[in-house]
Amino acid sequence: MNDPGTLQDSFGRVVNNLRISVTDRCNFRCRYCMPEEGVEWLGKNQLLTYEELARIAKVFSELGVTKIRLTGGEPLMRKDLHVFVRYLSGLTGIEDLALTTNGYFLAEQAQDLVRAGLKRINVSLDSLDPLRFNLVTRRNHFHRVWEGIEEAGRQGLGPVKLNAVLIRGVNDDEIPRFADLARSRPFVIRFIEFMPIGADDGWSPDRVVSSGEIIRRIEDHTGVRLVPVERHGFQPADRYRFEDGAGEVGFISSVSEPFCSHCNRVRVTADGRLRTCLFSLQETDLRALVRSGASDEEIKTAIRGAVARKEAGHMINQPGFVRPERTMSQIGG
Ligand code: SAM
Ligand code: SF4
Repeated sequence: MNDPGTLQDSFGRVVNNLRISVTDRCNFRCRYCMPEEGVEWLGKNQLLTYEELARIAKVFSELGVTKIRLTGGEPLMRKDLHVFVRYLSGLTGIEDLALTTNGYFLAEQAQDLVRAGLKRINVSLDSLDPLRFNLVTRRNHFHRVWEGIEEAGRQGLGPVKLNAVLIRGVNDDEIPRFADLARSRPFVIRFIEFMPIGADDGWSPDRVVSSGEIIRRIEDHTGVRLVPVERHGFQPADRYRFEDGAGEVGFISSVSEPFCSHCNRVRVTADGRLRTCLFSLQETDLRALVRSGASDEEIKTAIRGAVARKEAGHMINQPGFVRPERTMSQIGG
């Protein structure tokens, strides 16, 4: 029998990592994530309140979750996020609390977030060129995001991780610039393979720049070998350092080398649906349970049941692959 404080799926994977989406709204329109227009936001009543989110987080912590990441949509658009961060940072059993953001509101919120107990941050940055940044995100906010990144470092959130989704023919020519940045400043650049999950994202296999190719292009540019620090671990990112000691880069190879067999995560969407895979076609409605007066035990039973049904893996590279109906921003990337 499973330990009552452990969530285990039918393949023996232990789930200890929860991503919570606090909002589906976003002030950017990254091409690979959501369309320019026509996105319908959840109504206020559909969103989980902070009290509801706190209860769900606590139940997960009692089930053995030790890592929480807040995401969205754009999580810093949710009012007073630092108050929720303070709650989570004091929650028994939570050892790792992190946030993924587009960085737009970071300069003004970094201090409050750090005071509330945030330790780690990932900022999405797909280009180091302001015009290109505008092309990808459909927003002319490069300088403001960069200021947010610098402020996060000054507030003690360093080394800031910068997430870059590379798309062939769009921004893959920036691989050398990203490599130079990783070697000259205390940032960890993480290259995320382009996945077929956004709305009208133009995804096709040939637009994915595989991690293997990026490694080769970085080594060609720098003339320095990349040495694995951690590969195929319990984190999706494979970490590499430069052989001469200057800098580190990471690779999330969801398409070319899926980490499904090691996946330890589940997600709760802003409207309280539990998803056991980014590409799940089924969800479990935790909001309905919470709002119908279910006990913690009943919520735990629903979570255990969903985790037991966790998919073996996504099917991106297989003929039967079906895209989830929700976009990445609606799921919580
Ligand atoms: N708005 C925040 C941000 O952009 O960091 C948090 C939410 S966003 C959905 C989380 C992450 O998902 C970002 O790093 C983004 O680059 C990534 N993402 C979104 N769509 C993607 C796609 N089609 N393929 C790969 N990564 C994607
Ligand atoms: Fe917004 Fe993040 Fe999606 Fe870009 S990737 S549109 S910033 S949710």
